[in-house]
Amino acid sequence: MSLFAPVTYFTLGFIIAFLFPRLPIILITRGRGFNTAFPEHPEPIPLSPKLTQRVLHMRMIYWMGFVVATIPLMFGLASIKWGNTAFGFGLWLSSGWFMLSRLQTFVGGPDPPWTLEIAQRLQIVMDKAKSDSSCCNYPKPEWRILTISCSTCGKLLEELPRPDLGRKRIDGVFAGGLRLLLTDGHPTIIEDEESRYFQDSEE
Ligand SMILES: [Zn+2]
Repeated sequence: MSLFAPVTYFTLGFIIAFLFPRLPIILITRGRGFNTAFPEHPEPIPLSPKLTQRVLHMRMIYWMGFVVATIPLMFGLASIKWGNTAFGFGLWLSSGWFMLSRLQTFVGGPDPPWTLEIAQRLQIVMDKAKSDSSCCNYPKPEWRILTISCSTCGKLLEELPRPDLGRKRIDGVFAGGLRLLLTDGHPTIIEDEESRYFQDSEE
């Protein structure tokens, strides 16, 4: 009896359930029409209510993935019971793992890339820029890859690495999509180094 077929089915189920709950983040909001309010990736984004709203949307889509993951989980269980056991087990294991890793947040695990707290911090920086204690006369806070800084005077306003914000990525659909799969939207180290170099040479 060959092991080849069950291993293939298992892997197939595993990959399908791996991709499925992550598709919303990769597909929704990448279209051009969704991003007219923002400069193209990876340019800094000026702070605005639209940007705060985008962070909240990304947060919603992120948690939508959790709900979406119940579909391969259910299919997996059904397939284990009535269909192809190896395929079902692949689906079930992958989506179960996905859901567990998302739930970690509530027991002290890492925060999601998009949180209410991030949206609030953006709002605080914006409010401060409009107040008397602003950094300069014409404050223009913008979200760079590692920080929020003023594009007029260059002052660092808040240390906050920028997560993926749903813009079409400069590295294209496939490389960009792959990067999103690997990072889950979190700010990445490679990008940080590139940007530090980019920002230093710019100023
Ligand atoms: Zn300033």
